[in-house]
Amino acid sequence: MAEATVDRRRLVPRTDVVLADPRLVAAADRLGRAPVKAAVLAAQQRARAGELDPADVAAAAFAALPDTAGGLRTVLNATGVILHTNLGRAALSPAALAAVAAAGAHTDVELDLGTGRRARRGRTALAALAAAVPAAGDVHVVNNGAAALVLTATALAAGQEIVVSRGELVEIGDGFRLPDLLESTGARLREVGTTNRTALADYAAAVGPRTGFILKVHPSNFVVRGFTKAVEVGELTGLGAPVVADIGSGLLAPDPLLPDEPDAATTLRAGADLVIASGDKLLGGPQAGLLLGTSALIERLRRHPLARALRVDKLTLAALQATLTGPTTPTWQALRYDLDALRARTERVRDQLDGVELVESVAVVGGGGAPELELASWALSLPERYAAPLRLGATPVVGRVERGRLRLDLRCVPVERDPDLITAIRAALGSAARAPEKAAAVAPREAAVRPTGDR
Ligand SMILES: *Cc1c(COP(=O)(O)O)cnc(C)c1O
Repeated sequence: MAEATVDRRRLVPRTDVVLADPRLVAAADRLGRAPVKAAVLAAQQRARAGELDPADVAAAAFAALPDTAGGLRTVLNATGVILHTNLGRAALSPAALAAVAAAGAHTDVELDLGTGRRARRGRTALAALAAAVPAAGDVHVVNNGAAALVLTATALAAGQEIVVSRGELVEIGDGFRLPDLLESTGARLREVGTTNRTALADYAAAVGPRTGFILKVHPSNFVVRGFTKAVEVGELTGLGAPVVADIGSGLLAPDPLLPDEPDAATTLRAGADLVIASGDKLLGGPQAGLLLGTSALIERLRRHPLARALRVDKLTLAALQATLTGPTTPTWQALRYDLDALRARTERVRDQLDGVELVESVAVVGGGGAPELELASWALSLPERYAAPLRLGATPVVGRVERGRLRLDLRCVPVERDPDLITAIRAALGSAARAPEKAAAVAPREAAVRPTGDR
């Protein structure tokens, strides 16, 4: 045994020899030297441990390298959850991705190329947002929905009160609670009504000289049913305080597919002075906080010192504009995937695999809103034990575990990735067949990703 170990050690090629492999030289140019060297050291370690043929060290190091230097692994989202918080919510459209790549270079983000003078940052993206919602007097964009709330509360209600219904004090995920976020700005919450019922009179009794604004929050990750009452934005406009509506998911106009989701245009037309929404939920764009409202309020927000701390990057501005003006987004397409086409595609994939079934399934919007919406869907069905090998493969595939089965819904997997998906499933079926106990050991039930209300 000791002798075998010594022999193996002697056979493992030296680090500088492996690093001279042309594939790894090219990879180091692309990814930087550190990650390539780390992959080589790991492969050498495996060879010393007898897990890898010493002759395969360079190939194994190369195979373990990421696609890009960005650190994040591209994942095939086969969960059937269109906006999965843990997978980064919305996938950007190819147009938005191209815009991001171009914006990474030096750009005219704050320069008017005609005059050579400084220009308003992100003016074309802001103009695109304003054009998409003509009911808004003006628009502003910050880092995310939470930042939009913080800026609004700070600029319009620090040292004053925000009047809000007890039925709308929501937790937005990962332990973050809207009331805590708002109070962190120095504004005080003036809670009105009860969990299930709030009336106009409750708001009217609370609004006074200390009121900064009235806040309406769309409960986008839960519903209250039964003996309920809520006051619409339109009814609140006569109380003498600005009405701010946090609509959550960022629909700019009504979508017949999502009748319960509020949209910016309708909310503004109903009389809201300011609408707040996220860019990476149903709008299908980059992480951003959209602010749409009267010119006077938007100007106050833009001029507030905190605005600088919350401003968005040029990459976000580019992706947002491409989302607004470019072709439809993956989010839009996943919502409207033709059921027969999805079935035919899923069947074609299944026909290239052994031991995989086609089953009816249900897809959901997920962290982006529409908690009640169920979309009829189709999925591949495999034993649950393949969940871990699929997540850990060269192309990570994340499915959904339900009643002992792993379901892979292709709705959110780009169709051009089907060959990669098939390769990944075949590899997982093969590896699990070779080492079933090991696969089970790294596949704890709770590690499988499930639909989540966490936003
Ligand atoms: C998602 C959401 C937020 C938080 O927005 P982020 O973009 O995640 O910061 C705030 N309010 C509501 C109603 C939401 O749905």
